[in-house]
Amino acid sequence: MSRVIEVRGLTKSYGEHQAVRGIDLDVEEGEIVAFLGPNGAGKTTTIEILEGFRRATSGSVRVLGEDPARASQSWREDIGIVLQESEPVPELTALESIQMHASYYLAPLDPHAVLDLVGLTDSAEQRTMKLSGGQKRRLDLALALVGDPKLVFLDEPTTGFDPSARREAWGMIEALRATGNTVLLTTHYMDEAEQLADRIAVIADGLIVAVGTANELAQSVGAQLQISWQAAPDQPPPPSPLAMSIAETGRASVSSTDPTQDLYILTSWAIEKGIALDGLEVVRPTLEDVYLTLTGEANS
Ligand code: ATP
Repeated sequence: MSRVIEVRGLTKSYGEHQAVRGIDLDVEEGEIVAFLGPNGAGKTTTIEILEGFRRATSGSVRVLGEDPARASQSWREDIGIVLQESEPVPELTALESIQMHASYYLAPLDPHAVLDLVGLTDSAEQRTMKLSGGQKRRLDLALALVGDPKLVFLDEPTTGFDPSARREAWGMIEALRATGNTVLLTTHYMDEAEQLADRIAVIADGLIVAVGTANELAQSVGAQLQISWQAAPDQPPPPSPLAMSIAETGRASVSSTDPTQDLYILTSWAIEKGIALDGLEVVRPTLEDVYLTLTGEANS
């Protein structure tokens, strides 16, 4: 596996305002990494520096082994970009648009295969001005993929989508995983990051405040899992160090940072005492809880 993106000490200032304040990031081949952060956190600025559209103020950036600010034509051909908004040529059909883009590349993919990958085969002959919003986003992705890129950038791929269009878009992005593409995407949506990304980089106020899987992010803020079950009418407390509380709903719960150990203590005790732990479950904090903790800490 080789390193596709390597960023060290990246900063970007717009006049007096430092939008990116020292970002380090490594992305390996085949990974899907999400930048998750609130408005103005610096996601687009960072991604556009990686795409070669903006200049860094300081720091070093290597993307597919080159500095994007000085990249070659062959480097450009290895990059696929889906912008937040795009305007396809309205008179062309979906297929013609993809064919036209394919002609820019030395070794493009078959436009029909790309139509199929993004689920637009049925709309191949439809003029782009007649495509729905969701279909346009599919076409955007098709245009980014037809050059057979090694790395795909997706800037807020589902902003403004209704829930079913989002699910469909997620399916398309999942399909990219099977092609072995490396993907860097930005999003405001916790569930999107969790669903699609191997690793999530939480960006707040120009800094990566945490990076890892959803579980690793939860651990990084010391988030506790809840082990809960339906309390018996005369529920005795489990042994120390487990501290049980019983909610008004009648569910007993203990907080845990080591669920393997704590479940062992709880279930051994329950078996020994002949106590049923009805509806036993382990619930981890949502990524939203973790995200709010991380971005709240960064802003405090
Ligand atoms: P969003 O989720 O709203 O797209 P973002 O995380 O992508 O936000 P950026 O667009 O990178 O954030 O913006 C980071 C900061 O830099 C913001 O304060 C923004 O106002 C500022 N900024 C971005 N582009 C420029 C520019 N061209 N000139 C001046 N300031 C800018």
